[in-house]
Formats: sequence, C-alpha cells, structure tokens
Amino acid sequence: MSDLPLDLRKLLEDRARQYTTEHLESLKDGKGTVKLRLKCSDGFVVETVILEDKTGRRTACLSSQAGCAMGCAFCKTGTLGLSRQLETHEIVEQFLHARKQDETIGNIVFMGMGEPLVNFENLMKAVRILHEPSGCGLGYKRITVSTCGLSEGIERLALETPSVRLALSLITADQGKRESLIPAARTNTLPRLKKSLLAFQKEKESRITLEYVLLKGINDGRDEVRKLLEFIRGLDCLINIIPWNPVKGLPFERPESVRTEEFVRALRSEGISVTRRMTRGVSINSACGQLGGIQ
Ligand code: SAH
Ligand code: SF4
Repeated sequence: MSDLPLDLRKLLEDRARQYTTEHLESLKDGKGTVKLRLKCSDGFVVETVILEDKTGRRTACLSSQAGCAMGCAFCKTGTLGLSRQLETHEIVEQFLHARKQDETIGNIVFMGMGEPLVNFENLMKAVRILHEPSGCGLGYKRITVSTCGLSEGIERLALETPSVRLALSLITADQGKRESLIPAARTNTLPRLKKSLLAFQKEKESRITLEYVLLKGINDGRDEVRKLLEFIRGLDCLINIIPWNPVKGLPFERPESVRTEEFVRALRSEGISVTRRMTRGVSINSACGQLGGIQ
C-alpha cells in the first residue's frame, strides 16, 4: 500500500493484522499435492489442501469447520467430533494462504474438514468474498460445495445463494447401508435427498457431482450399481468414484483396482458419466477423508 502516507502505514503495521491464521507448515507429496496446516488465533489447526489434476489444473480444497459433528463411519474428520465452526475470514484466509503458495489456483472445493452446510451463513459470506472482483475474483461455477446430504441445506443452497456447484457424498444408494455409514442419512433419506437434488437442478441448471467412496465388500457390488442407476434417474449428474483412502483404526478396505474398474465400467456401459478420482496425497495424509491428523 505504498500510496498511503507513511505514518498511516506505520500505524496499520502496529495495530492491524492482515491474517488471523498462522501458516505453520506445508507438507508436499512430491506429485503436486500440498497440505497447508494453519493455526487459528485460538489454537485450532485447520488443514487446507492444494490439488493438481491430470491436466495441471490447480484446486484449493478448503475446510469449513474445525472437525465435524456428522460422524460418517469411513472418514477421519468424522472421528474427531466438532470443535467449532470456522469464521468467514478463516475460510477466506485458507484460500489466500493457498494462493500465496500457488498463484495459478483457479478452483475451490469445500471438501476439506467439516460439513459446509452446517456452517451455512459463514460459508456463504466467504463464497461471496471469494467471488467478488474486489475480493478473490473467482467465478461462482469454480466453487463447489460438498455435503454428506443435508436436504434442507441443499434446498437453501438452491434458493438463496449464487450458482455454486454442488457435490453430494452419496456413498451408496441403499438406504439401510447409507444409514449405517452416515448418521445424517436417517433423517435425510434417499427419497428426501432426491427431491432436494431435483430442486437444486431445476434452480441452478448445473450438473451435480455424486461422490461415491468405494468400500470393499460394502458398496462395490452389482446390486449397488443397480440401486445407484435407479437413484440417479432424472438427475443430470457426474459420478465420481473415490476408492477409500485408508484411515488408521477404521474397519474398511479399499477395493482392488480391477473391482473398481468393473464398477466404473458397469456404470459407463449404461451411459453414465463417471470419473475416477486419482488417489493423491495419501503419503502426507491429505487425501479425501484423511484430514484432521495432528491438532
Ligand atoms: N462434509 C462434506 C465435505 C467434506 S468430506 C462431505 O461429506 O461431502 C470430502 C469428501 O471426502 C467427501 O466426498 C467424503 O465422502 C470423502 N471421504 C471421506 N472419507 C474418505 C476416505 N477415507 N476416503 C476417501 N474419501 C473420503
Ligand atoms: Fe464430516 Fe464429510 Fe467426513 Fe462425513 S464425510 S464426517 S460430513 S467431513
């Protein structure tokens, strides 16, 4: 701010802080994934990940909460419980810290720690700042909010907010199995979720991503493909298959790659758009569902 008078600059330097979070360290896996550990002013450590896809596109994966109260059985963050909501500035600062490391980051996914729709107000304020030309200048379509499936939150997102993209951690299209893996599925049943997805689709006219974490012997069978096809009827969606990333102490296994390929092929043969998420950052515990290591 060299255009400000010197005494004002001095005053600002003494009295004002640009960041409330402190960048503790960056862990790199050597293949393009970087995990940033940021300390909030009250000591909580929040993790933010920079990801690179096959085409070299860089995305910041931001956290929305310190921990998470949802308790999904397959997720590391779910084992922590919720410490607190992240404030708007703490969400925005994650992006600023990430962009200091890499100026080319052009996309944001809320797939870090926490359930973004539970921290709705702060999330939306942050999204607006990230979008504003005088803020970070990112197009809304470059911002994706991922949820474990809170119907009311999805409907609010559809009706009250700008056109961000939506990702749903579907995990399985079998109601009983979904309830045993995601506690929130008991009240947010599959038919209820479908209704809110259709409402979102109608409002935003954008393709929804369904994240399907593949768990060996649990949701990787033929029958599961059939149920999934039934669930997505009428939805414009992309299915993102994510072979489970190991979390110490959790009783799941990642399916063999042939099994994963079979699952992907079975869906593609029905004309469904499917991507298989590359496994990134496992060596630095920064892959999906592995965040929340050391506090
Ligand atoms: N709370 C939101 C966003 C954070 S979780 C949600 O649940 O969608 C981000 C993604 O990581 C979700 O798609 C979730 O299903 C996935 N995930 C959680 N644990 C995982 C694990 N151990 N391996 C692979 N993906 C996992
Ligand atoms: Fe929370 Fe998402 Fe992990 Fe579930 S999958 S515990 S909602 S972070």
